[in-house]
Amino acid sequence: MVTLVFPELLPPQLSRLTPEETDERIAAAKEALGSRLVILGHHYQRDEVIKFADFRGDSFKLCQEAAACPDAEYILFAGVHFMAESADILSGEHQQVILPDLSAGCSMADMANSEQVDDCWAQLTGVTDEIIIPITYMNSTAALKSFCGKNNGAVCTSSNAESMLNWAWEQGEKVLFFPDQHLGRNTAAKMGVPLDKMIVWDPHAEFGGVTEEQIREAKVILWKGHCSVHQRFTVEHIEKAREQFPGCRVIVHPECSYEVVQAADENGSTNYIINAIEASEPGTTWIVGTEMHLVNRLSKELENRTVHCLDDCMCMCATMYRIDPEHLLWALENLLEGRVVNRISVDDETRKWALVALDRMLAHA
Ligand code: SF4
Repeated sequence: MVTLVFPELLPPQLSRLTPEETDERIAAAKEALGSRLVILGHHYQRDEVIKFADFRGDSFKLCQEAAACPDAEYILFAGVHFMAESADILSGEHQQVILPDLSAGCSMADMANSEQVDDCWAQLTGVTDEIIIPITYMNSTAALKSFCGKNNGAVCTSSNAESMLNWAWEQGEKVLFFPDQHLGRNTAAKMGVPLDKMIVWDPHAEFGGVTEEQIREAKVILWKGHCSVHQRFTVEHIEKAREQFPGCRVIVHPECSYEVVQAADENGSTNYIINAIEASEPGTTWIVGTEMHLVNRLSKELENRTVHCLDDCMCMCATMYRIDPEHLLWALENLLEGRVVNRISVDDETRKWALVALDRMLAHA
């Protein structure tokens, strides 16, 4: 179980400040807090917020950064809820993790809850004697990471999903992969698992929408979850981009659908995408299938490459966007007054087993 402090409302006077006034007050509060504070900014965060981050990265890298700052009493996560939970799990007991707006959740993480996964597990293990290893993507609640820890499973990120699937198949015959079906399918397919050996468990359908025989035949049971940002990209977007920008390279995140990943030139984690574009020859044109704040930032920061989003229709992470400069200022000025608002705290039992699942990943990825 995860304990949340009841959300407080942003004082209306903060919304009336000009952007310049807000920036000045954030900078002053940050300076006054000094090394007692570390601000973590996810790559998908808006520019007005990420400019105040001490570290930028994907969710796992940022949690590692937090763990490497033992002096910081306060870890402010400019990301979404599951990221702040992971930072709390990996940070020290003397550290407090803050999510400036508690409504910054993740639609993918919300697609699998403990009750649904417990129910799925009971049904799967009732059908087959083969060993099933549960693997949860980093983008999941602490409760699901804990479930994996308790049931001989592990966590994976988009960078190490292949290593973790290899590890899982050393431990058992089948993998239950949640909550993102696309990362699971794309990774397993790349490793040579035929598509007909993967089934999709729909938590809203009776018996997951599958048959007992399909479960016995499957090598991977994929959870019916997805990222609302990455699922927007289509093969038609890729075809249109290739027409508009002849010679371009299309690179997408593995949270995109199997068809999109197959049609792209390359796919990989957020860090993979950044590194590939940074390492490319000047003059290269990149069409990128991931969150638009990252794509726009790459476009601005890499002067000698042309970088466009695969879909120019506002494909942004709407929940991460809820972390705005006003909430950042509010959280920081409260810290200056000795009040911690919107603390994310994972209870000891959940933390213990989630750490087991995270440690398995760190040991084997
Ligand atoms: S981009 Fe998708 S997976 Fe990432 S936080 Fe937003 S909704 Fe969740």
